[in-house]
Amino acid sequence: MVNLNIAIERKSYASNMPDVLGQLGFNVAQGEFVSLVGPSGTGKSTLLNMIAGLESIEAGSIRFNDQLLKGPPPCKLSYIFQQPRLMPWLTVFENLRLVMPDSAPFEIEKMLDKVGLKGKSDCYPKQLSGGMQRRVSIARAFLTRPDLLLLDEPFVSLDAPNAQRLRSILLELWLEHKTTVVFVTHDLNEAIQLSDRVLFLSSSPGTVLLDKDIDLPRPRIDDVHFQNWKKHLLSQNPGLLEGQVSDVASESFSRGFI
Ligand code: ADP
Repeated sequence: MVNLNIAIERKSYASNMPDVLGQLGFNVAQGEFVSLVGPSGTGKSTLLNMIAGLESIEAGSIRFNDQLLKGPPPCKLSYIFQQPRLMPWLTVFENLRLVMPDSAPFEIEKMLDKVGLKGKSDCYPKQLSGGMQRRVSIARAFLTRPDLLLLDEPFVSLDAPNAQRLRSILLELWLEHKTTVVFVTHDLNEAIQLSDRVLFLSSSPGTVLLDKDIDLPRPRIDDVHFQNWKKHLLSQNPGLLEGQVSDVASESFSRGFI
């Protein structure tokens, strides 16, 4: 299990380009589900890629259980992207076995069962719907029993019932595995439904505008109570979803900042 500490000073892609990320810092506790919410271009994917070791950290640090990130992440990490990124020439079963070559066939079948793909192990990705392919990518991510799971808008462009079913599957697996999760989305409803905490990012350069605990009981359904909670949050923080600074101070902006 992993505890993440993020303390970024700034990030840019080139010296002649504006900073994508400004100063931002936060902790993600072991087993916590944290969402990053903000408009397009606020550096959410950049930050996720930095945590995954795919993008350089020029100024600042990222720590995994106090261990400084310098190259490959020092823990078992799974990353679910917008696209399921399955190998088209491999069956569903083979796509899963690729990440865990030593896993017993029954373990793979059990994981497929959990994501609602019982009986689909011999199918090729092109024989599956978009939603089913994403189920495979969720199964693949959890099969390795990751300490840290990163997700970048994994349910975007799915129809509402499919996205809802996948969110439920994700939550069930997260509760079972107690994985630490960082989830990127621009959909506030999705973030409220899933997360323990939501971090709202400002537009360029990206910084944390608000670090908000979601204290609604689970399971969370989009009912009146849910909508009132959201309305209250937005009325207290106008401009939040546009990535603009409001007068309301962040509840715990500097939480974990070194
Ligand atoms: P978000 O995930 O919030 O939409 P991104 O992290 O994808 O934001 O992008 C933030 C900014 O960084 C955007 O202006 C984007 O064009 C730029 N950017 C992202 N990746 C690269 C890259 N590899 N090279 C140069 N600019 C990039």
